[in-house]
Amino acid sequence: MTTSFKILPVLLITVKIFSQSINCDYCNQSIERSYISFEGKNYHNECYENHIRIKCNYCGLAIDGKFIIGDNNKYHQKCFADHVQLRCDLCNGLIDGRYISDYWGNKYHSYHLQKDAQCDYCGRFISAHLTKGGAKYNDGRVICKLCESTSITSINRAEEVFGNVRESLNNIGVIINFDKIELKLVDKNELEQITSKKEKSGDTRGFAQHTYFESNGKITSRRFTVYLLSGMPQKDFEAAAAHELMHVWQYLNCSDKLDLLISEGSAEYTAFTHMSKYQDQYSKYILYNIENNTDVVYGEGFRRIKKFMDQNSFDEMLRMLQRSNR
Ligand SMILES: [Zn+2]
Ligand SMILES: [Zn+2]
Ligand SMILES: [Zn+2]
Ligand SMILES: [Zn+2]
Ligand SMILES: [Zn+2]
Repeated sequence: MTTSFKILPVLLITVKIFSQSINCDYCNQSIERSYISFEGKNYHNECYENHIRIKCNYCGLAIDGKFIIGDNNKYHQKCFADHVQLRCDLCNGLIDGRYISDYWGNKYHSYHLQKDAQCDYCGRFISAHLTKGGAKYNDGRVICKLCESTSITSINRAEEVFGNVRESLNNIGVIINFDKIELKLVDKNELEQITSKKEKSGDTRGFAQHTYFESNGKITSRRFTVYLLSGMPQKDFEAAAAHELMHVWQYLNCSDKLDLLISEGSAEYTAFTHMSKYQDQYSKYILYNIENNTDVVYGEGFRRIKKFMDQNSFDEMLRMLQRSNR
């Protein structure tokens, strides 16, 4: 978006004393005594004061010096600069031209994209006043101090939260009939190696691995390992855990030819359902990102399942997955 504005001077105002019959150019009634002439037209004092005199659209007071026109409104120069014109929430400089904004309502000069770091989780630009600073992980991820305050870095904490998410899914009907799911915290490079040929998608935060042994076409034993990125904020960790747990459920209940869009879409939908039980702003932000994901598999898959869910219950979705491609 662009804003344009001009600075214009107020034209000369003269007050004349009645000399001949004159009509007011605002109300068309005759003028008995003194009147005001402005831009070649004549007005009763009140008509001029109430209808013609230029008022500031911000403070409502008359403007008798130079004024600024922005978005077709008129402002005192100071009112415009202090209250109307956009300021960048990162550097506080005036924004005159293109800008970008984040989910949290902050607006920034677009050129900060090229030279300043953004948090990989909340999307804010890292700064003392917006994020209390930030940190960079060894794998290159950038996290702000707000997000880092809940980040999950120890396997003990990870196991605890993972268990809670599994419990939460259990309550909505995603019952995983399998005892031990191994959980591993990995960095971005390790996760990329594990998923390299299996899941091709932009921002991968986890992976569910199914290892099994077959004899005469029947599975005799199997193992599940869920890999999740270390250092994610707790809410992102929960969403990723719910997504991967749904894949474990799929391995146990669905055909291995399950359509990719349906498989990822229902995993995203499960994460969405789990996150919907929270009311905080960050959880709403995660829901927003799931709903508006432009990825052709994750985003499109989610929207396809969501459409199905407009007419059906969660249990019906699970049954649809079980019937799919068998
Ligand atoms: Zn008048
Ligand atoms: Zn003003
Ligand atoms: Zn700026
Ligand atoms: Zn952040
Ligand atoms: Zn997935």
